[in-house]
Amino acid sequence: MSSSLGVSLVWYRNDLRIRDHQGLSKAIDSNRQVVAYFNFNPNLFKELNMGFKKTGIYRSKFMIESVNDLQLELDKLNISLIIDNCPDGQNLIKKIKKLNVKEIFIQREWTRDEINEEKEVLNKIDSNVKVNYSFEQFLYHPNDLKKKIDDIPNVFTLFRKKCEKDLKVRSLADNPHRLESKNRLSEKYKIPSLNDLGFKEFKLDKRSAFPFKGGGKSGIERINNYLWETKKLSVYKHTRNGLIGIDYSSKFSSWLANGSVSPKMIYWEIKKYENKVIKNQSTYWLVFELIWRDYFKYISMKYRDKIFSIEGILNRKYNWDKSKTKVYEWINGKTKEPFVNSNMLEIKNTGWMSNRGRQNVASYFAKELKLDWRIGASYFESMLIDYDVHSNYGNWMYVSGVGNDPRDRKFNIKWQSEKYDPNMKFQNLWLNE
Ligand SMILES: Cc1cc2nc3c(=O)[nH]c(=O)nc-3n(C[C@H](O)[C@H](O)[C@H](O)COP(=O)(O)OP(=O)(O)OC[C@H]3O[C@@H](n4cnc5c(N)ncnc54)[C@H](O)[C@@H]3O)c2cc1C
Repeated sequence: MSSSLGVSLVWYRNDLRIRDHQGLSKAIDSNRQVVAYFNFNPNLFKELNMGFKKTGIYRSKFMIESVNDLQLELDKLNISLIIDNCPDGQNLIKKIKKLNVKEIFIQREWTRDEINEEKEVLNKIDSNVKVNYSFEQFLYHPNDLKKKIDDIPNVFTLFRKKCEKDLKVRSLADNPHRLESKNRLSEKYKIPSLNDLGFKEFKLDKRSAFPFKGGGKSGIERINNYLWETKKLSVYKHTRNGLIGIDYSSKFSSWLANGSVSPKMIYWEIKKYENKVIKNQSTYWLVFELIWRDYFKYISMKYRDKIFSIEGILNRKYNWDKSKTKVYEWINGKTKEPFVNSNMLEIKNTGWMSNRGRQNVASYFAKELKLDWRIGASYFESMLIDYDVHSNYGNWMYVSGVGNDPRDRKFNIKWQSEKYDPNMKFQNLWLNE
């Protein structure tokens, strides 16, 4: 490592980890001084045009914890994480100049806000600074996929079968090695508190099905717990439609969403589990769900900003309602459907909702109340700890009849409630407090 060669900068966004991170490993191999950067951009915490903050309190807390953990992990490698709170690219542009940055390592993104954020910086810096993009967020690498699939099919099953038949999940990136202590910057950067981001501290709701902390360390602990300690993975297919508690599903989504763990880390751990413990429908099904996650990423890559448009990727025109009263009732658990209400109270109080719950409340919002699905999606964006732009907008389009569901179904809420909450345990938990 030599500072005379300039600096390699790792610009962290939704890839908040040190393991299985190509960009970080390459930066370390560059033989330059390595510095990392993360921006708590105030725009992330502002109200959007649908009336909800882009990042609400629960994900903000998770984000703080995740960046805190990243800073500690990088610190062990003698890499400083610069923490910023700049509404545009100005501070980063200055840093790049001041630190004599020669190379930038960044996760490739393609959605509107992320591209704009990038452009603000990368279009204004010296053209000699080399920008290295990498895809860190996929199970199946886009370059491998491109060789086998010309056009992403609009039906998931075709996509999945093609991936399973023709593609291999790549191995993990090498673990990063520790640099000498002189690599560190002299300044130590402080991570903001919830108060700094405009929220009040709060106590975790004891009913929460997601009582976990952000960060790679707790993500890996959760993988170990779900696979090796409790062996819940072995029964995942039978429990995954559950509603109460931490173990009916993996709960990996929040760490995956901000990149504290990678899908490949989970995949290869499942493969080990299949070798050592059991290989069955449940172990397969968790990978199957990770393929859904990839699929929505590829769909958003194919259709770009169309995933945010009211007609969705199908260009379907419906008469959408925008009634503020109906939206208010949905958000606050005051609709005619107790099953919808209980799920809505869960997300309001915890930032979490099960997959079964999400499907029901979204279907009710779009198909029963006939409300503009983007309002619901924007509320989820604000509230969900595990918000991921591709999975959220992809699933909302799917449920609302403007996305990838060839069957365009409407959920029968009463039937769903009787099947998945036959003893009203879940509804009592949220409605009778
Ligand atoms: C309207 C709606 C909005 C959603 N918004 C999001 C979101 O913003 N972020 C998000 O990560 N998921 C979203 N999902 C998908 C799914 O509900 C969550 O991924 C899942 O409930 C997370 O719990 P888990 O980690 O225990 O999942 P598990 O059942 O344990 O599944 C394992 C992993 O597979 C992936 N996965 C599972 N189901 C889906 C799915 N339907 N689509 C995409 N990936 C999936 C997730 O990464 C998940 O962590 C949404 C679903 C609906 C119906």
